[in-house]
Amino acid sequence: MSETNTYLIRVEPTKQSRLSQVDFNNLKFGQIMSDHMLVANYEDGAWTDVSIVPYGDLTISPSMSALHYGQSIFEGVKGYKFPDGTVSIFRPDKNWERFNKSAARLQMPEVPEEIFMGGLKELLQVDEAWVPSVEGTSLYIRPFMFATEAALGVHPSASYKFVIITCPVGAYYSKPISLKVETYYTRAADGGVGFSKNAGNYALSLYPTQLANQEGYDQIMWTDAAEHKYIEEAGTANLIFRIGDTIITPHGDTILHGVTRRTIMELAEKWGFKAEQRKVSVQELIDGIKNGSVSEAFAAGTAATVTHISKIGFEGQDYDLPPVEGREFSNKVLDYLNQLRYGKIEDPFGWNFIV
Ligand SMILES: *Cc1c(COP(=O)(O)O)cnc(C)c1O
Repeated sequence: MSETNTYLIRVEPTKQSRLSQVDFNNLKFGQIMSDHMLVANYEDGAWTDVSIVPYGDLTISPSMSALHYGQSIFEGVKGYKFPDGTVSIFRPDKNWERFNKSAARLQMPEVPEEIFMGGLKELLQVDEAWVPSVEGTSLYIRPFMFATEAALGVHPSASYKFVIITCPVGAYYSKPISLKVETYYTRAADGGVGFSKNAGNYALSLYPTQLANQEGYDQIMWTDAAEHKYIEEAGTANLIFRIGDTIITPHGDTILHGVTRRTIMELAEKWGFKAEQRKVSVQELIDGIKNGSVSEAFAAGTAATVTHISKIGFEGQDYDLPPVEGREFSNKVLDYLNQLRYGKIEDPFGWNFIV
């Protein structure tokens, strides 16, 4: 990154840090925000007023277009503290790229590297003490952008706000989850916005997910909109399977291209597995569970990294996956990524972005 900043980031430190009130051994996800946030405004075709200010409410207009027409996108990134105190963010360049792809699809402006990456770096420097060091904890980072024009006409907003907020999060003990193959509701269709991390993709998932919960499943396994025959992804994470000695993940623009998924597929290849991004039919999965060739299945995402899948429900029938202890690849990849992101082993890929 260049050292000459076109966007000077103004820093207004808080007068009253809330840090001493936080119990770092007992953190609930997304409830306690760090002292500062980064805010930037887009007006008249340019980004202005990039500043780091005390975390607090924003003022909005009731006619603000994000509220009515949904131009609103976000990212989820994590920062980690190494044993020597170094603060590092995991592959935020990939989040920056994806953020701008989401923006383009929703006719929103690009956020330049200096504001996204430079802003992340400076914000974490200011709130370094908020990056927890208790084993397994991390700083969850939420960059987001929304349309702020106060007008009810349906058109791309003329103004936007880009914000980064952060919050310390506790060790994530992910219990294996059960998934219901969704054969009626649809998350994304070809030509739609499935690949973009926009707020609406979550709004539409809430009702079908609640129905799945009522049937006793933790989350939905989305399938393609046209036929409901091909597997897409889980509610908030991508899906990865081991079939024989091949590591396989569904492919296409109807799924969110996760940084965790990408990372795990890259590692699979490095470690000598066959790694494939391709269509996976529900039938192939069910047949493979029945004949024993599907030995591992997990959800991959920033929140938990790897969440093992214990059971898949399809057309009223439950299919159990093999015990988690014997899952060689997923356990190895989770352990490796934990070591790497906390700076306990070498980072041969340059995935750690040091703050
Ligand atoms: C964010 C997200 C993922 C996971 O992406 P990561 O970059 O690995 O965190 C997967 N699916 C959906 C729908 C998402 O929103």
